[in-house]
Amino acid sequence: MESLAFLTEDQVRCIQTEFGTPLFVYDERTLERRAREVLAFPNAFGLTARFAMKSLPNAAVLRLFHRLGLRIDASSGYEAERALRAGIPAADIQITAQELPKDLEGLIRQGCAFNACSVLQLNEYGRLFPNTEVSVRVNPGLGSGHSNRTNVGGPSASFGIWHEHLDEAHGVAARHGVRITGMHTHIGSGSDPEMWVHCAGLSLDIAARMPEVTRLSLGGGYKIARMSTEKEANLQDIGGRMSAQFEAFALEHGRKLHLEVEPGTYLVANAGALICTVIDVVDTGASGNIFIKIDGGMTENTRPSLYGAQHPIVVVPNEAGAARGEGDYLVAGHCCESGDTFTPAPDNPEGLGPRRLTRPEAGDALVMEACGAYCSSMSTKNYNSFPECAEVLLKADGTPQLIRRRQTLDQILENEV
Ligand SMILES: *Cc1c(COP(=O)(O)O)cnc(C)c1O
Repeated sequence: MESLAFLTEDQVRCIQTEFGTPLFVYDERTLERRAREVLAFPNAFGLTARFAMKSLPNAAVLRLFHRLGLRIDASSGYEAERALRAGIPAADIQITAQELPKDLEGLIRQGCAFNACSVLQLNEYGRLFPNTEVSVRVNPGLGSGHSNRTNVGGPSASFGIWHEHLDEAHGVAARHGVRITGMHTHIGSGSDPEMWVHCAGLSLDIAARMPEVTRLSLGGGYKIARMSTEKEANLQDIGGRMSAQFEAFALEHGRKLHLEVEPGTYLVANAGALICTVIDVVDTGASGNIFIKIDGGMTENTRPSLYGAQHPIVVVPNEAGAARGEGDYLVAGHCCESGDTFTPAPDNPEGLGPRRLTRPEAGDALVMEACGAYCSSMSTKNYNSFPECAEVLLKADGTPQLIRRRQTLDQILENEV
């Protein structure tokens, strides 16, 4: 059975009573520890570390990270605007977006940096800002995401300028007098240091063909262990090996490249928990299954239904010290959608993966762990007209502080005319 990561059972019960469920809790101490780890990423010639805000865009988190020294990677014009409204200075925001921001000109004029993700984007940037500098995202031709839906490099991914089209990119930049001084890749290399060395090598080979490049971003994609069986990326090990590569590059090409990293998952995934309440327990007969139904689901965390993601699950009985015994359970979300499950089979998103859990009763809390990244930000918000849930920051001194109120039905309806 899994255990709670940063909450105590008493804290779960108190938060459940005080704020209602479902709700996300983020742990300030874990966020700070992770930020310090990323800011200590080994590097040969300087480091800029950005937080990929799409993983958890709440303003309280952006401010906390920025105060500690992280800058921001925004994946849309709206995210950039959101970071600005949270008080992040424009100079500390870089936009790397599939969709060109509607107001690219305004955002750049305010001081945001731009990372062109296609030749069309580069051309548009050059037209608006001739004779400046820019960075480009390159698809170096290899990815390592754990499924096709999370793969962000290689021929099956649309992100970035395909490495064989760089001549075209240079031609477009030259026409506008734009210098490509930054190069960016984000191919998500997981936990294996050899894989990171391989990917950094690919990126450096490309940087060698881009003579004006002085900073190289290797993106995010540092794997974390959500389940206890998973292996986490070791930043010191990975960064140490990459530093050697950057030094070798400097010797060979006479350019000391500034390193950028921009993790999302690594910074926040294990700093978040989703607290739900058990609303029912049903079964499908002697040869069937037992289902725990909860007051949350894909409306809070869609990762299990989207790609079979595994998250630790813990039942916290309503009364402290209850001796309940254990059983094997499936956990079903509250949506009228058979795919709304928290327990897909580990190696088969279509299959069922019962979990050994404390025997639940209606009213108990069910805590889903490792819900800091791509849960609140990527949910199927408002499906079945369930309101967006609340978010709480557990301060370092143990006090829970509300950082997002639960949505109301009026707010769901406010744009209907
Ligand atoms: C999503 C994203 C990241 C962060 O990825 P993680 O896997 O969460 O670390 C970094 N850079 C870019 C450009 C991204 O799109």
